[in-house]
Amino acid sequence: MDLKEQFKMITNIKNSRDLKYKPLSENYLLHFINNLLMTRSNFNTLELNQTKYKVSGTYLMYSIVNNKLNFCYVGESRNIISRFKQHVNGFKTSKERFYSKLRTKVNDIEDISFLILDQIDDQNERLIKETYYIYSTKSKFYSLNTKLVNRKMKCPKGHGMVKSFLNYEKNIEKLKLVIYGKCTNKKCKETFVIK
Ligand SMILES: [Zn+2]
Repeated sequence: MDLKEQFKMITNIKNSRDLKYKPLSENYLLHFINNLLMTRSNFNTLELNQTKYKVSGTYLMYSIVNNKLNFCYVGESRNIISRFKQHVNGFKTSKERFYSKLRTKVNDIEDISFLILDQIDDQNERLIKETYYIYSTKSKFYSLNTKLVNRKMKCPKGHGMVKSFLNYEKNIEKLKLVIYGKCTNKKCKETFVIK
């Protein structure tokens, strides 16, 4: 496959609802998450209860049981541990659509794990990294993220309302995906790399 075909395959894995892409999507995500697990702090619900420190950054909530992926979700927060606890409570009691959906993916809260992706204090840097990970875990079958870009994200010149798209680097041998942000301010329209 040339780069263009490889890119098409990847975008199908990320965007298609066709069931033939489901196993590929699951393999892709299992591989991605297992790689993260080698270098990131992971918590289950029991460990969460004993954790009190404050850390600001991006996170992944996911469920892998018997090497099968149930779902994944990327978020950001000024206080990640506290947000994890909100998710646990939400799973137990909330009527919000997000939690109703979550309960269709897993039966038991103990099957959910939490991963701190990056520690980041600056809000805009957090939002940029969040978009990076939402693209990385994009899947119509497994990801519970519904938006790619937080509306508070700003372009490098400080404007809001950034759009985003996925592309790849041309003229190199191996496929390298690149996520772009594009400012919607008519006088700016700056395109920047999200990484
Ligand atoms: Zn701008």
